[in-house]
Amino acid sequence: MSSSEQVVVVGAGPVGSITALRLSQLGIPVVLLEALSYIPTGHRAATTHSSTLDLLDKVGISSQIIEAGLKAQYFQYRHLDSNEVFAEFDFSFLKDETNHPYAIQLEQHKTVEIALKEASKYKNFTLLREHVVSEVNNKEDIVEVTVKLPNEEIKIISCKFLIGCDGGKSYIRKSQGIDFPGFTWEERFLILASYFDYEQADNYRYRNYLAGKDTWCSVFKIPGPKGCGMWRNLFPVMQGVSESDILSEKYINNQIKTCFPYIEKINVVDKNLYSVHQRVADKFVKGRIILAGDAAHVNNPLGGMGMNSGIHDGLNVAEKISELWNNNSLSVDKVLSLYDRQRRPLAKKYVQAQSIENKKTLQSDDSRKSKDKYENLKRISSSKDLQKSFLLKASLIDMVRESDSII
Ligand SMILES: Cc1cc2nc3c(=O)[nH]c(=O)nc-3n(C[C@H](O)[C@H](O)[C@H](O)COP(=O)(O)OP(=O)(O)OC[C@H]3O[C@@H](n4cnc5c(N)ncnc54)[C@H](O)[C@@H]3O)c2cc1C
Repeated sequence: MSSSEQVVVVGAGPVGSITALRLSQLGIPVVLLEALSYIPTGHRAATTHSSTLDLLDKVGISSQIIEAGLKAQYFQYRHLDSNEVFAEFDFSFLKDETNHPYAIQLEQHKTVEIALKEASKYKNFTLLREHVVSEVNNKEDIVEVTVKLPNEEIKIISCKFLIGCDGGKSYIRKSQGIDFPGFTWEERFLILASYFDYEQADNYRYRNYLAGKDTWCSVFKIPGPKGCGMWRNLFPVMQGVSESDILSEKYINNQIKTCFPYIEKINVVDKNLYSVHQRVADKFVKGRIILAGDAAHVNNPLGGMGMNSGIHDGLNVAEKISELWNNNSLSVDKVLSLYDRQRRPLAKKYVQAQSIENKKTLQSDDSRKSKDKYENLKRISSSKDLQKSFLLKASLIDMVRESDSII
């Protein structure tokens, strides 16, 4: 058994990698355990908001993220059926509120690469891949972590604190008997990636939402594998269609034709299908075990809030652990309960509420209600003050400020 004078972070996704990096910077020995031998490149988070870039200034990686990504100053809403833009938002209204009045479009696996490369510069940082956490023992003074290696060897690692950043299906959360209440949306989300250039074809921004009578869609630009630009479409898929049918060429072409009748053909180079949930864990802390990121809360991807708020969790808890590390007289329960109070209620108030609202705005159930929602967005986007307060929420700046004000 190794020395327990360290923190274990489980999961080297964006949240675990950035949390581990921050802990290393704060002088704390940290072991990052990851089940996979590689960084997965599936289409997941693409948008990094101003609030996150501001926090990452302190970690020293925001400039690398900006350099690798695409600067998205605007996002727009269109009527899917007429292709008319009815509202456009401009992050430059936040120029007095943030160092970064824009969002950055960068695939999450590239953010992970940047964080892990930076972390590898620290002697107190260790990344152990193909280490699957299979048991945890949350004791009074330490946590004992049982890890399975590919050759079936079992390793026990002990630590002062364990941060579970092991995603929505979190073993760590389940091992502590922490409930994950909420719901799963009926429809699944289909993501298609292509090199069809929506900006050139029809003045799309890098982030676009299309609301229609029968369906909706979002259109995003990312740097893509070659760095020269790739576009993603996200569509809802109703129940009752098998996965193989959804991923068939016929279904995909049909979906594209429904949303973009003016586009002759799109060569889809990649596709993913996701189930989508809205859930927040009942507790973010139990003894010396802390949850962050998707392990603590999951939401639909509209508005790009899951990874962003997860990174905020991780950076918050890294500071709390640093306080405890440097001052033995502090109460672990007291310091960590502040983390829970600063993050858990706000995950509901901001991330859950806004992502659910974003989805409801796009999906049209009652045409009068939809019309009201579109009119409302139009009204907000045409006033500087209203737009600014909308963007402070959408970029999670309000959430970070409110979290900091909780003592
Ligand atoms: C289509 C889509 C688009 C999205 N777009 C956005 C966006 O634009 N902006 C945004 O903010 N969010 C977005 N999200 C959400 C975002 O992808 C997630 O919130 C983010 O990946 C959460 O990061 P995480 O590090 O908490 O978990 P994950 O990325 O799920 O990482 C968890 C890691 O833990 C490892 N692990 C799991 N179990 C164990 C174990 N027992 N032992 C060791 N390791 C383990 C896994 O292998 C994995 O590497 C999107 C999601 C989807 C599906």
